[in-house]
Amino acid sequence: MAEAGSFAERVKNQADIVRVIGEYVRLKKSGQNFTGLCPFHGEKTPSFAVHPVKQIFHCFGCGKGGDVFSFVMEVEKCPFPEAVKIVAEKCGIPVPRPKERTPEERRENQQRAALIEIHREAQSFFAQQLESTPEGRVARAYLEDRGLNADAIARFGIGYAPSGGDALLRHVKPKFAEKLLVESGLISQDQSGARLFDRFRKRITFPIANEAGKIVAFGCRALGDELPKYLNSPETPIYSKSNVLYHMDRAKETIRRQDFAVLVEGYMDAIAVARAGIANVVASCGTSLAEPQIKLLGRFTKRVIVNYDPDAAGQAATERSLSLLLENDFEVKVLALPAISNKKADPDLFIRENGAEAYIKTLKEAPAYVEYLIGRARQMDLTTGEGKQRALNFLMPYVQKIPNQLLRSEWATRIAQQLRIDEPVLRAALNKSAAERRSEVKVASQLVGKPAKQIERRLIRMLAEAEGFKRELAQRLQQGRLYEGLETEKIFAALIVAGMSDEPLPATEIGAHFEDRDRRVFFEILFEDAQEPTWEEAESCLEALRRKQIEQELAKLQRTIEANPSGASLRELLERKQELMKQLAAS
Ligand SMILES: [Zn+2]
Repeated sequence: MAEAGSFAERVKNQADIVRVIGEYVRLKKSGQNFTGLCPFHGEKTPSFAVHPVKQIFHCFGCGKGGDVFSFVMEVEKCPFPEAVKIVAEKCGIPVPRPKERTPEERRENQQRAALIEIHREAQSFFAQQLESTPEGRVARAYLEDRGLNADAIARFGIGYAPSGGDALLRHVKPKFAEKLLVESGLISQDQSGARLFDRFRKRITFPIANEAGKIVAFGCRALGDELPKYLNSPETPIYSKSNVLYHMDRAKETIRRQDFAVLVEGYMDAIAVARAGIANVVASCGTSLAEPQIKLLGRFTKRVIVNYDPDAAGQAATERSLSLLLENDFEVKVLALPAISNKKADPDLFIRENGAEAYIKTLKEAPAYVEYLIGRARQMDLTTGEGKQRALNFLMPYVQKIPNQLLRSEWATRIAQQLRIDEPVLRAALNKSAAERRSEVKVASQLVGKPAKQIERRLIRMLAEAEGFKRELAQRLQQGRLYEGLETEKIFAALIVAGMSDEPLPATEIGAHFEDRDRRVFFEILFEDAQEPTWEEAESCLEALRRKQIEQELAKLQRTIEANPSGASLRELLERKQELMKQLAAS
């Protein structure tokens, strides 16, 4: 909980929940709220809402709700202090140095910090080598030949790892322990462990940053014909290939704003595309996209144009990536660039030959993935039944993954036409596979409470938000015990205690401690469109509750009288009944 005056409270006051949640969920403005697809349960139509003024979120489907911290705790599966830290970092609020709980944590944090420092040091070393050594001059000539001028070199931090074999080692050795240097992956060790040497030699270096913009690895291209042509950093405590997308740190704002990303294979492609003015490009830095990379991308957009190399490996990679993207509910287009004078073109080559504008034009015309796949299937031999079956087997797994049934059906027609396959046969196959699809997650019905009555809802809203009179209102409800027996009794009880305290908590903090069902009702009430409450309205609501209370007592009294009309206390009961009838008439 964000205690008054605490760091957490300060973060909460400065953080914008729409911005923070917007990094995980695609939000659209809708009335006074923002809505999107709930990240906590599977759904196809948005029932997840964020309230920018109250700084709360609520899912009308699964009932999850709370403030910015509860969101991050839930989505990152982390404890409160970690959530505060994450929100602070996202909002650029400096985090006070945390007290590591265990010596182990302390050691890991120090190690990570040192590894990042080594990469920073290596980056400036490589940049300086490219800039001012004879070897570097050769590398620069090569880069210039590839269309990378001084401007691009500076912008993307391109550097050069010299051929000597221990130039970087000699540079960093005085500052860091040998063990750390080996752990960084930039320095290698021979089998005996006795001799250290540079991992990257005679190579152009491209710094790879994590999402936060810290360099965590290098991708390196051989300057000559040395093999392998590309050599990257190994997995280290700060770098996992499957968790990082090249250029993500710079692309993420534009990806969110434009709501799509261009996905290319290598860093040279990403650089070429970014230089063409398309800032929302990322590279998978490997032939195949990994699940964590898709999750990372999915936090910023669910729409992607895949532009991999046109060679066989690139095609296979495209198709593997397609499967994964579709499984993760991405809307995918595929850009297969036309050949340039019989040479298959990757984005880098295409832009160098045809210019940025031509690239942007083809990008805009990129077909939906099914179109691309049909094109691929049509290249197969379709003259025989066997060949058609092969083409169909190739297409079917993808078509199956189209979440929308109508769209799936449309594509079935298209495929039947294009491949000249009997449509009913195709549909039968498709329906069979569709039946095997996992159905959408159903929301647990016990979570869906009965809707609270209008009067209760209004009073709860006033107790939570009517700064002018919520204290008075809490006292009146408490004195008359007017909320007892209501379905929303627990919500009232908590709000009344809070309303009468000298240091009232914000409503969302109180709501965070409710049981699921109550929290759901409470957040729904906070999200309702409602007029400014007045004290007159509050009084009439109180009055209504009072009547209801009397009516309930009367009904109970009546049942007692009828059950035992000859009882000794009959007179008392009748007197009480008279009194209640009078009260009811007066109110
Ligand atoms: Zn939900």
